[in-house]
Amino acid sequence: MAELSYLTIWQVQSELIAGKLSCESLVNDYLAKIEASKHLNAFLEVFTEGALQRARLLDKKLKNGEPTGKLFGVVIAIKDNICYKGHKVSAGSKILEGFTSLFDSTVVERLLADDAIIIGRTNCDEFAMGSSNENSAYGNVLNAADNTRVPGGSSGGSAVAVQAGLCQVSLGSDTGGSIRQPASFCGVVGLKPTYGRVSRYGLIAYASSFDQIGPFTHSVEDAALIMEVISGKDNYDSTSSSQKVGTYSSSLDFEKKAKIAIFPTTLASEGLHPEVKEAVEGLIADLKTEGHTIGEIDFAFLDHLIATYYVLSTAEASSNLARFDGVHYGYRSKEAHEMEEVYKKSRTEGFGKEVKNRIILGTFVLSSGYYDAYYSRAQKVRRILTDKIRAIFKEYDFIIMPTSPTVAFKFGEKTDNPVEMYLADIYTVLANLTGIPAISLPLSEDKQGLPIGVQVLADKFHETDLLAFSEKLMQLSSV
Ligand code: GLN
Repeated sequence: MAELSYLTIWQVQSELIAGKLSCESLVNDYLAKIEASKHLNAFLEVFTEGALQRARLLDKKLKNGEPTGKLFGVVIAIKDNICYKGHKVSAGSKILEGFTSLFDSTVVERLLADDAIIIGRTNCDEFAMGSSNENSAYGNVLNAADNTRVPGGSSGGSAVAVQAGLCQVSLGSDTGGSIRQPASFCGVVGLKPTYGRVSRYGLIAYASSFDQIGPFTHSVEDAALIMEVISGKDNYDSTSSSQKVGTYSSSLDFEKKAKIAIFPTTLASEGLHPEVKEAVEGLIADLKTEGHTIGEIDFAFLDHLIATYYVLSTAEASSNLARFDGVHYGYRSKEAHEMEEVYKKSRTEGFGKEVKNRIILGTFVLSSGYYDAYYSRAQKVRRILTDKIRAIFKEYDFIIMPTSPTVAFKFGEKTDNPVEMYLADIYTVLANLTGIPAISLPLSEDKQGLPIGVQVLADKFHETDLLAFSEKLMQLSSV
């Protein structure tokens, strides 16, 4: 049998149903791998007892011939900003150290209702702010392909957990690229759904008009199945859509010839690593050979994306993070003796440097004297981008571009230069600014064996086509 972690969900389930494997042995196998890979620091906590208990329960269910869910026996890790009742959740921050979730997020509720097993919570950048996982209060996550390099961020732990075979699939959140960029750095599949496709209820908010939860997987097929379960209307999230959820996992045949838009500016961009460029251009050439249409679009906004994203996301973050005040829950400074001191000291001690930078930046762009110059202007740019994207999708089915300008970089390489770090998100923030779905697929490797990803973007709520086309692309990719 192939190594367990690289089988698809469907293959694992076939083994379970045939009695060749039990959920309990599956969980034990992953627990052993997690133990052996502790140095990667992918998990902040492993739910050993809970996962084993659930596995035994599921084994019994199967034995008794009871109906089983779509995700029967699927071992999942969740990012440490997704609430799971009775379990700790800290968003990678000291300010939530020791905090236990009082309720299940909607995604967790849906995973459990379909018989998944949640094995642990994964490390991430504090409040999902970062592109390298160097901002977690609980230490760096190491890229399993090269331990001297970052896994990407902010969902670095979730990406590495799948990359290193420590679980079957994982969930992350993507506000500006936090699923797709680490997926690209770790050689796995990562999908950011359409804004509103997946409920945000129980996701610790970073920038609410951008945040989406999505899966990390080894295969497109697995991503499709997870999406089928976690998507859909939720009365607890008024921004969730009531659009019908597709039968993603059984619609993976893509027989049409696609119309694909590319933006030459993305491939001419200064910071683009030559081997990433070569790989993406190679894929585009292959698609042409296969008879798909490639159209070059004049996209003049590339230089404005990062600024727009960081103005708007920090503005929203400054408001969302106001709730961490040392009074209601989480960390409270022991040095504080009066009310104002409680706020000041708890927040000063509880938040890390990057989070504080962003709260200050976000407060600044919202302040009355600067609101029009920054926040309001950025909203206008967001509208222009949304209109432009809508026009493109009237003519084209997909947009293809790199996921990240580089392969995984070394620890410390960008920590002293926030602008350079923010530029790591240049290709990913567009999907969040415009609300469209986007996926990162493992495309190839550079000469050092580091993964290179490619990104495919589709129109809003076109996940069915996006996944089917991705399945087709995976057949063309060289990994
Ligand atoms: N790297 C981006 C940021 O730091 C994106 C983060 C995310 O998607 N959560 O904001």
